[in-house]
Amino acid sequence: MPLAKQDIENFKNKLLSEERRISETLASFATKNKGGSGEFTSRFPNFGDGQDEDAQVSAVEEYGTRLSAETILEERLRAIRRALTRIQKNAYGKCLNCKKDIPIKRLNASPEAELCGNCK
Ligand SMILES: [Zn+2]
Repeated sequence: MPLAKQDIENFKNKLLSEERRISETLASFATKNKGGSGEFTSRFPNFGDGQDEDAQVSAVEEYGTRLSAETILEERLRAIRRALTRIQKNAYGKCLNCKKDIPIKRLNASPEAELCGNCK
């Protein structure tokens, strides 16, 4: 069953608030790249005057954590933006593979879903 207008509106709002939330999380440890690509670069943590080895080690570890979080969050952000584009193009809620409707239950769990349960 195709999605009702109101459902699509709800998903759009969900996607927009999720986009905002993820952007804010990213901005807390990464800097948004100039040029409007929407990509971020993780900031290297401040580890004081550089004399304390323990502090350096934990800064390197923290930086690694930031980089993996950045990758995951950016990927999610791209998926959300693709979903918002599909809403604009009236293609939202269709499986990108088999073109069938993605069940609303699945979209409720993850509004940026691109594939139906069978194609995933
Ligand atoms: Zn499918």
